[in-house]
Amino acid sequence: MATGKINVSVENIFPLIKKFLYSDHEIFLRELISNATDATLKLKHLTSIGEAKVEYGNPIIEVKIDKKGKKLHIIDQGIGMTEEEVRKYINEVAFSGAEEFLDKYKDAGKDAGIIGHFGLGFYSSFMVAQKVEILTKSYKDEPAAHWICDGTPEFTLKEGKKKDRGTEIILHINDDDKEFLEEHRIRELLTKYNKFMPIPIKFGTRTETLPKPEGAKEEDPAPTKEVDNIINNPNPAWTKKPADLQDDDYKNFYRELYPMQFEEPLFHIHLNVDYPFNLTGILYFPKLTNDLNIQKDRIQLYQNQVFVTDNVEGIVPEFLTMLRGVIDSPDIPLNVSRSYLQADGAVKKISSYITRKVADKLASLFKDNREDFEAKWNDIKIVIEYGMLSEEKFFEKAEAFALYPTVDGKYYTFDELKEKISGQQTDKDDNLVVLYASDKEEQHSYIDAAKEKGYEVLLLDSPIVGHLLQKLETSKEKLSFARVDADHLDNLIKKEDTKISKLSEEEKEKLKTQVEEVLGDKGYTVQLEAMDSQAAPFIITEPEFMRRMKEMQRTGGGMFGMGNMPDMYNLVINTNHELVSEILNTKTAKKRERLINQSLDLARLSKGLLKGEALTKFIRRSYEMVK
Ligand code: ADP
Repeated sequence: MATGKINVSVENIFPLIKKFLYSDHEIFLRELISNATDATLKLKHLTSIGEAKVEYGNPIIEVKIDKKGKKLHIIDQGIGMTEEEVRKYINEVAFSGAEEFLDKYKDAGKDAGIIGHFGLGFYSSFMVAQKVEILTKSYKDEPAAHWICDGTPEFTLKEGKKKDRGTEIILHINDDDKEFLEEHRIRELLTKYNKFMPIPIKFGTRTETLPKPEGAKEEDPAPTKEVDNIINNPNPAWTKKPADLQDDDYKNFYRELYPMQFEEPLFHIHLNVDYPFNLTGILYFPKLTNDLNIQKDRIQLYQNQVFVTDNVEGIVPEFLTMLRGVIDSPDIPLNVSRSYLQADGAVKKISSYITRKVADKLASLFKDNREDFEAKWNDIKIVIEYGMLSEEKFFEKAEAFALYPTVDGKYYTFDELKEKISGQQTDKDDNLVVLYASDKEEQHSYIDAAKEKGYEVLLLDSPIVGHLLQKLETSKEKLSFARVDADHLDNLIKKEDTKISKLSEEEKEKLKTQVEEVLGDKGYTVQLEAMDSQAAPFIITEPEFMRRMKEMQRTGGGMFGMGNMPDMYNLVINTNHELVSEILNTKTAKKRERLINQSLDLARLSKGLLKGEALTKFIRRSYEMVK
C-alpha cells in the first residue's frame, strides 16, 4: 500500500471547490458520468482495433444510491485503470486541471457564467463528498486498484479486490448534500444532463409485464420480471443521418425533448457539418406568437451528447434563440466565460453556419411548396423579420422567401410586389410607395379607400415592423412605406388628374378659420385638400414618420433617444365634399359648430380615436338627431 501527499501547491483546492462551485454542486454527477462514458467508449475503440483482447459486449453505466451507508456509486464497465494509471491520471493529471482552475478562479467570481461550464472533472466529486473511493480494474491483465481520499491532499492507494473490469466511484456524501441521496433528485439530474448520453445508464429497476404463457387462463395475472431501468436514449435523432429519419422520427424526438409541449413543430432543420468544425443538431420552428418574450422551451446545447446548457446566447444568433431543438458540438469551448465565447472565432463560424443553414432551409421550403410556406408564414414571420433586421447575411438571403401578405390574403415576395405596383403607386419624387395596414379592423375605412382606388395594401402586423420597414427603405433605392392612414392617399401617391378645388382661396381661408375655431386646442393640424366628391369630408391622418418613431420606441427599447413623443394628427378636409360647402355656407355659428363637431367625431370614430366620454356624448347626440 502506498500513501502520499498530493502536490502541495493545490493544498487549498478543496475549500475552493466548495466555495466557488457552491451553486453548481450538481454538476459532479455529469462529470463522473462523462468520465464513465469516455472510459467505455475508449474500450469500444480499443476492442474494435484489436488492441484490447476482451469482449466489449453491451456495457452500461450504473448509478446506485446507498441511503443507509450515505453513499452514491457510479459504476462503469469501461477500460478501468491500473494502479500506475490511477497514480498518473488521478493524482497528477487531474490535479493539474484543478490547478488551472485555481489559476482562473479569480475571474470566475466576476463572471458567474463560467462556473457551471468549468469541467473540473473527477475532482468535482469533492463538492458533495467528504471522502471518495475509486475501485478500478483495467482491461489489461493486472490487479485492481483501490484509491481513497478524504478531501485533504492525503490519499491512499493500494491493491483492490475488484474482480470485473471497469471503475466504480464511491462518494461518501456530505451531511450538507444529503439531497444527492434522494432518488428523485438523482433522477432529475440524470434526465437533465444525461438524457442523450451514448452509453445506457441504469438507475434502479422496473417491473416489466411479460406475455402470458400459452394456455394461461383469463384471470391469471400476466407474469412480470424486474429489468434494468435505463434512463437515457443513447441514440438520439440528431446523431443519425437525415436520410435514415422520417418526418415522424423528428416529431417524436421533439416530444422527447419537450414532453410538456403539445403543439407540433412547423418544421425542422437537421444540422450536420464536420468541416471546418464539428456540429450536429436539429432545430425546430415552433408556432410563434407575436410576443417576443414568451419562450419556455429553449435550444439545448450538448457536447458529445452531454447536456451543457439551455442558454445558447452567443452561439446561436439571437433571432434564432426563438427556435427549439438541440445543438451538439465538441468544438464549442465550454470552459470559458460568455464574453470570451462571443469573441471566439470558432463560435462566430458556428453562428454564421447556423444562420446560413436556416436561410437555405427556408428558401427550399418556399421553393418546394409555396402554398404550405404561405400558410405557415404568420407563425414564422417574427423569426424571419427579426433575422432580417439583425443579421445582414440573413437579410440578403431572405430576399428569396420573405413574404409580404396583402389584406386580401395574397402573398408577394418583394420583387413580385415591386413588379405589381411599379408605375401605379409612386409619389411625386418617383419613389415606389408601398401602402400597408397594421390592423384590418382598425384601419378598415382607410384600407377601403385605398382599395377603391385600385391600390395594393399589405398587412404587416408584427411588433417590429417599423424597424423592418426602415431597414428596407434604407437598403433599397427609391422606396417608401406608408400606412394607409398616414396621409390622404392623393398626397401619398401621385395622380395624373389633380383635382381642382370647388372653393376659392378666400373661401378656403374662411373655412380653415371656422374649423380651427371650433377645434380649439384639440391638437389637430387642419389641412384642406381637393379630393373626389365621394371621398369622406373629414379624415384624420397620422404622419408615417412620427407614428413609426413612436412604435419603434415602444419595441426598440428607446433606441432613438427620444422621450415620450406626443400624438400628432392631421385633420384633412375634403373641399370638394358637399357637406364641407354646407359648413362654409351655414348662417348660424351654432349650427356650423354642430356640423363641424359631428363630422370631426365621425372622422375620429373611423380612426378609432373616439372613446370614453366623447364617445358617449357622440352616441347620445346621434340618437337625438335620428329621432
Ligand atoms: P478529464 O476527464 O477531463 O481528463 P478527470 O479529472 O475527470 O479529467 O479525469 C482524469 C483522468 O482520470 C481521465 O482522463 C481518465 O484517464 C481517468 N479516469 C477518470 N475517470 C475514469 C473512469 N471512470 N474510468 C477510467 N479512467 C478514468
